[in-house]
Amino acid sequence: MCSGRVDLEFVLRAFSNGIDGVFIGGCRLNECNYVTHGNYHALNMTLLCRKIMERLGLDPARLRIEFMSGSEGNVFVEVVDDFIRQIKGLGSLGSESGVNSNTLKSRLVEVRKLIPYIKVMKNEKLATRLTDPNAYTDFYTREEIDELLDKVVSYYIDPEKCQACMICQRRCPAEAIDGGKNRIHFINQDKCIKCGACVEACPPRFGAATKISDRPVPPPVSEKERMLSRNTKEK
Ligand code: SF4
Ligand code: SF4
Repeated sequence: MCSGRVDLEFVLRAFSNGIDGVFIGGCRLNECNYVTHGNYHALNMTLLCRKIMERLGLDPARLRIEFMSGSEGNVFVEVVDDFIRQIKGLGSLGSESGVNSNTLKSRLVEVRKLIPYIKVMKNEKLATRLTDPNAYTDFYTREEIDELLDKVVSYYIDPEKCQACMICQRRCPAEAIDGGKNRIHFINQDKCIKCGACVEACPPRFGAATKISDRPVPPPVSEKERMLSRNTKEK
């Protein structure tokens, strides 16, 4: 019912599925029937997504948002016709930058994994209600998106320091921490949304959960080592 429900994930998933263009229609700004004004959220998400698309090698014109009332059928027809013309002019997805479909697909897969991280990092900006159209173009910059995606952090539990106290596991909102009693914990990187809650939760005297940005995440230790490490500590 609300354009504010159109998540960044929905748009990037559509492109992952080979859709050539995504059109979002919302109610006129400031004419929301509810207190939520979700169309401002949709606008803000669209501006962010367009900058991400530039980095991926997609023309941001492939994503359009327009606002209109339910009685403006003529406006809807005009903008959709125009959008279709524009998308046909751009050709197939990725042809504008010469990126082949496999490369594009893997870029989309990678960036979709980072959506929760992007939302956490851009939380404040995403909550901004943009009322001045002049602010749209530069609200997010390409440099800002490059920096965000070039410096993606990871979270890691040092098996030498982990005391298997299970505090971080209980605090993780993504069920990304594999642990349990007397088992050294480790983070499933595919599930981790990079919220940082485990680092905050891990007692400073253990300091086992850390943020890393300058090296790849070490592979998890074997199941046997996880138990052995714990036994060694108990001795
Ligand atoms: S950063 Fe830590 S708490 Fe947050 S999702 Fe990843 S493992 Fe879970
Ligand atoms: S809070 Fe720290 S010590 Fe406790 S299980 Fe998590 S990483 Fe290990």
